[in-house]
Amino acid sequence: MKHLKPSATGIISSAAIQMRKEGIHVYNFAAGDPVLPNHPSILEAAKAAIDEKMSPYAPIAGLIELRKAAADWMNRRYQCNYSNEETVVTAGGKFGIYAALQILLEEGEEAVILAPYWVSYPEMVCLAHGKPVIVPTSEETHWKTAAEQIKAHLTEKTRVLILNNACNPTGALYTRQEIADILSLAKTHNLTVISDEVYSEIVYDDAHFVSCASFPEYKSRVLIIESCSKNFGMAGWRVGFAFGPKELITNLVALQSQSTTGTSLASQKAALGALKDADRTAAYVRNAMLRRRNLFFETFNRLFKKNVKPVSSTLYYFAKIDGDSMTACREILEKAHAALVPGTGFGLEGYLRFAFSEEEKEIVKGLEALKKIHFI
Ligand code: PLP
Repeated sequence: MKHLKPSATGIISSAAIQMRKEGIHVYNFAAGDPVLPNHPSILEAAKAAIDEKMSPYAPIAGLIELRKAAADWMNRRYQCNYSNEETVVTAGGKFGIYAALQILLEEGEEAVILAPYWVSYPEMVCLAHGKPVIVPTSEETHWKTAAEQIKAHLTEKTRVLILNNACNPTGALYTRQEIADILSLAKTHNLTVISDEVYSEIVYDDAHFVSCASFPEYKSRVLIIESCSKNFGMAGWRVGFAFGPKELITNLVALQSQSTTGTSLASQKAALGALKDADRTAAYVRNAMLRRRNLFFETFNRLFKKNVKPVSSTLYYFAKIDGDSMTACREILEKAHAALVPGTGFGLEGYLRFAFSEEEKEIVKGLEALKKIHFI
């Protein structure tokens, strides 16, 4: 039997689930998605799907009308031109990344990952028998790294670069120039860029999201990963998308045909409901998360006498702490009944990740509970 590592976000959340079973209220700063009722456009589409009373297999690559709606959504936002054949519906963005790595990596080949990274990337690379090559970033450089620094980590075995923009856990957003430099580096070194853009709509104030899809000259080496989980607040429905060169998408569909058979039909219809009214559905989630972000940072700064600038995107704040992050998380859970995620899960010790995507009263009460244990 192989012994696989469970996702790092799972350890504290399992402990929190156990405490909840025992009747203890746990403040949820460990969420990975907007804690929000689904927008009516999603619910109505899902109800209509159930009323059809039949649940046959969906097409492996996804319903054609959903692929078209997803491609239109991308093409409209970024002036690109993805066709249906360059678009596949996946069981969440996560499966798109997993499948792409399975296809792109041979044994021992390398994938560059910028740290702090989304928890699953290194393990996914290992599951594809590849080697994760971690390139660190720091708070001083706004959690970003320039193409020049990435270049120093490339070898003749590097095949893939995973770029997470906007970044979980830091909220870092890359500028047009920074992305252009990274894509140019990828071209020079013949790399495929997996651009994980699952927070593309969760961007606040006047911050601007730039997609790798808006560089047509690099289309042949870019795979865009998108998702309904965060952008439309429908994580449990498990609908994501991958957009990329036809050959890679065809392979991805083949892998899907030998593994998941695609995602659930009712979920795809629910996603179609979200995409039919994409701007409004996304604004519903974004506006709720904006209110929670503002409340989180106002309360955090007031209670802990800090002056932390609110993040410009995603649902998270990556907070510096003294000492070991897993010990801190266990202690916070035990003493303040609040669940957070340790920085080590994201490849960086000395930090904790707060999610501010819970209901507003939970955010305030949870921070007050942390204040009582003198955590910061
Ligand atoms: N990528 C990032 C950066 C994420 O944070 C997540 C979820 O937390 C995913 C991908 C996967 O999302 P899903 O599979 O729900 O679309």
